[in-house]
Amino acid sequence: MYQSASSYRNNLTLILSLFLFAGCASSPKQCPRDRIKIAQDFPCQEVEPRKQPIRYLILHHTAASLPSSIQMLQGKGETNKVGIHYLVCNQPQHQVYRFAPEHLATSHAGKSAWRQDQSLNQSSVGIEIVNLDGNLNPYPPSQIAQIIALCQEIIIRYKIDPTHVLAHSDISIGRKKDPGSLFPWKELAEAGIGAWPDEADIQKFQTLYAKKLPDKKEIVGQLIDYGYRPFDSSEMSMKLTIEAFQRHFRGKKVDGEIDVETASMVSALHTKYCQALPSTAKN
Ligand SMILES: [Zn+2]
Repeated sequence: MYQSASSYRNNLTLILSLFLFAGCASSPKQCPRDRIKIAQDFPCQEVEPRKQPIRYLILHHTAASLPSSIQMLQGKGETNKVGIHYLVCNQPQHQVYRFAPEHLATSHAGKSAWRQDQSLNQSSVGIEIVNLDGNLNPYPPSQIAQIIALCQEIIIRYKIDPTHVLAHSDISIGRKKDPGSLFPWKELAEAGIGAWPDEADIQKFQTLYAKKLPDKKEIVGQLIDYGYRPFDSSEMSMKLTIEAFQRHFRGKKVDGEIDVETASMVSALHTKYCQALPSTAKN
């Protein structure tokens, strides 16, 4: 029987999927999914059918204790209704709890934007991390190890671009500050999770900018190129955009000011992730 090219591809994809699935079943140690050890499933009310493919991974801190976080993420909070896919605990074992399967979208991002995308709930997987405030309380290494394992597994499965692994504060400028300036994004980048500028590029720009700092608008323009979406063109919006960048990439000083280190890191990031791409490929 005649088989169109697309149906042939579909059949081939199905066969490959079955093969891969069988491979996971027969050799569990090689299946990345097995790296997620779900300690417990909880029902989450704040879900809806997913209408877009998953292209983002968004990280949060809960700003609540573990019991309160579990209550809140089940939709039992007294104030705002939130949902999530995974919660990484702050207990000694740092277990992972699941609140919703990934084929459903959850309401964790709220009003948000990155590049051409708005309201990222539909295109993202969300991870909440138990920490009262990631701008004040460091994340224990054992909790970070669990987060790294969870993120690696999700990124591999959906082929998520490094520039699409983001903090809530990156996509909701001026509205959110989580997972905070103490979250170790550099350590995650070294484990293959998310973006980070090259040291050689940072050094190059530091030499250049030590002589003359670039204009604030030029640096904010590079941040917009990279993906940040200020809410308008005001001074306040520019300051909050720089703060969002600093909270992710230069957490030791988050003041919204352009200094040599901040400008150098922005330009190094722009060099690595923006200049090599045609504009149509940036999304
Ligand atoms: Zn958040």
